[in-house]
Amino acid sequence: MKALKSMALTPYHAQPVWCHHCCIRIAPYDPRTVAHGKDYHRDCYAKVLHAQAKSKN
Ligand SMILES: [Zn+2]
Repeated sequence: MKALKSMALTPYHAQPVWCHHCCIRIAPYDPRTVAHGKDYHRDCYAKVLHAQAKSKN
């Protein structure tokens, strides 16, 4: 688990991050939300939350 260790030491913005919702890369300057260890655009996460609320009914 060397990789995990070095990741923790790397500044969060130093590596490319992809949104788990739209699969588009999140730019360092984009508003970003991390939920359950996954990264989302802030807007995409709002959609994810909306979809979850809907499926719960
Ligand atoms: Zn997105």
